[in-house]
Amino acid sequence: MSGEMDKPLISLHLVDSDSSLAKVPDEAPKVGILGSGDFARSLATRLVGSGFKVVVGSRNPKRTAGLFPSAAQVTFQEEAVSSPEVIFVAVFREHYASLCSLSEQLAGKILVDVSNPTEQEHLQHRESNAEYLASLFPTCTVVKAFNVISAWTLQAGPRDGNRQVPICSDQPEAKRAVSEMALAMGFMPVDMGSLASAREVEAMPLRLLPAWKVPTLLALGLFVCFYAYNFVRDVLQPYMQESQNKFFKLPVSVVNTTLPCVAYVLLSLVYLPGVLAAALQLRRGTKYQRFPDWLDHWLQHRKQIGLLSFFCAALHALYSFCLPLRRAHRYDLVNLAVKQVLANKSHLWVEEEVWRMEIYLSLGVLALGTLSLLAVTSLPSIANSLNWREFSFVQCVATSSAGNADSGTRRPEFQSQDRHLPALHHQTSFLGSRSFGCSLVPVSTPHVIERI
Ligand code: NAP
Repeated sequence: MSGEMDKPLISLHLVDSDSSLAKVPDEAPKVGILGSGDFARSLATRLVGSGFKVVVGSRNPKRTAGLFPSAAQVTFQEEAVSSPEVIFVAVFREHYASLCSLSEQLAGKILVDVSNPTEQEHLQHRESNAEYLASLFPTCTVVKAFNVISAWTLQAGPRDGNRQVPICSDQPEAKRAVSEMALAMGFMPVDMGSLASAREVEAMPLRLLPAWKVPTLLALGLFVCFYAYNFVRDVLQPYMQESQNKFFKLPVSVVNTTLPCVAYVLLSLVYLPGVLAAALQLRRGTKYQRFPDWLDHWLQHRKQIGLLSFFCAALHALYSFCLPLRRAHRYDLVNLAVKQVLANKSHLWVEEEVWRMEIYLSLGVLALGTLSLLAVTSLPSIANSLNWREFSFVQCVATSSAGNADSGTRRPEFQSQDRHLPALHHQTSFLGSRSFGCSLVPVSTPHVIERI
């Protein structure tokens, strides 16, 4: 088992087959790493690949040397920290104290704390790991960085979603040195201020989709309310009043009737805060006042609310496609045919219903297509690949095809953070224009479809 654990995340053959990792020029800046675990190995690989000289300090260098790229020097801790000015501390918090014997050699150097607490440790300790390290080594400058980057990302290279490296320290010079290293390694340093922010930085990897929590709970709450209402209306009431057993509708039909209601309300909640913000600014007569916290949070959650609205609309479309597959629907059709025969009617054709259905379906498909386009272009990776004009163009085409375009849309990333923008900016939403929701109407035609 320990042998398994000692294996590097990617094959050393791969690492050393890359000639850039086999030899580093003598004049390259030297960086130290304390620890020889997963993170230290990945970090050493990336640093060597980014043109740094790496010296790794291990308690047992003989055992671990073979796991590092050959260009990295693996030695005892005392020797490893003697010459580099920047030393990464790739050990867990509980082992920091065991490094105190190196205090003299470390004096005046920059220590980069990469550690992540567990959730329990985060709650248990009031000071961050970085602040604890700083208290153990008062003669050093501690910088918190790279904790949000996994060993795997270090090995595989920075990707779109996880390029950002929050960095904080009380010493601007040390912060700058580590930021430059992050840039050289292909990451995007983000200045998080003084070391007091380290606790916040350490909490980042512990969060699970924080921006989605409230919108998801909201969508679930709406779903429960509308489902209960539709249950009473479509199932319970016929059962109580006419003794009709319609409980079979619970899994598909009632869900399908509920989804567009939720989608509509969520969509209106995307646009409502913009209107409220505009009204508030008009009432105050200025745009240079902060919005109340509740409105600010609401404005910042519009993207998630909009995407959840799209999710409900898409589910509704899928459910609608499945409606004719149900046994209940087939029995209804057969019964209708039998009634026709018994009534001696040979040709059933209600022109008005036929037209209504054709138009409903066509507009429903168009609306869902429009919503999909807006949802897709709201994804950061896609939005980032469009320039502002292209983004506006997509928004205008999508919204005008829905019947009523609003050219005042802004790119989402410009909307999310600003609390002081003029009302116009907040009126428009992440997913497109205010009129956008109207076009969704035809999608919600479960009753019509059922009547076919
Ligand atoms: P790991 O594989 O368990 O390695 C920890 C290393 O600490 C050991 O290899 C050991 O190296 C060294 N160490 C120094 N003094 C020690 C002592 N007294 N007792 C035990 N070990 C001691 O852990 P890791 O995954 O590399 O994580 C290292 C740090 O990076 C942690 O603070 C972690 O939170 C942080 N981090 C890890 C990741 C990740 O993806 N793994 C991501 C972000 C941050 P020697 O035996 O050679 O001395």
